[in-house]
Amino acid sequence: MSGFESYYLLDADDHILTWGGPRWESAALAGGATTLAGGDLVGQSIYAHVAGHFTQRFLRAFFAEARAARTGLKRAYRCDSPNAKRLFEMRAEPMGDGALRVEHWLLDETPMAFEVATQETRGAVRLGHMRCSMCNRLRRRGTREWREPDAFPQGSGPVAVVHTVCEGCRRGVAARLPIPANLTPAASAGSTPPAAPPSSS
Ligand SMILES: [Zn+2]
Repeated sequence: MSGFESYYLLDADDHILTWGGPRWESAALAGGATTLAGGDLVGQSIYAHVAGHFTQRFLRAFFAEARAARTGLKRAYRCDSPNAKRLFEMRAEPMGDGALRVEHWLLDETPMAFEVATQETRGAVRLGHMRCSMCNRLRRRGTREWREPDAFPQGSGPVAVVHTVCEGCRRGVAARLPIPANLTPAASAGSTPPAAPPSSS
């Protein structure tokens, strides 16, 4: 299953002008963005619906770069549901007068090994996990390694997370679906995509 899912049109200040798409409601709900489903969004800041300071900053920079690029920008990211790892592409196209049309396309998806629900927690938690908004990997507080959501022991109930953007995604490493488990870590090291800024379309 792949294809066009949803879009929104932003004004020069990143406020929502219009939005829609064949799978807007289900995509918003599956992504946990319940505030995006069903409401009247006209005039609202897109950042009111984005969890995490780093994620907001990342999107702000992406939109600014897309406006400056004239031909637009695209960027792969993960938007997992509890049961599936889903690879999306965000395509931002300048529409004149600072307006920006942002489309979200589903590229591919694979099932989770087991259901992993996450829940954003407010404020700093000493224990718990960080979740990267771009690649959806998790990092347990006090450790350094970012891992696939189903690479942790299966727990009961949602995982409490604080959203951020991991170091790899800040460097522009493209989000991707995990490498098949039959490849050893040594063999998979060579297939890591090169660090590169989001390519222009
Ligand atoms: Zn990441």
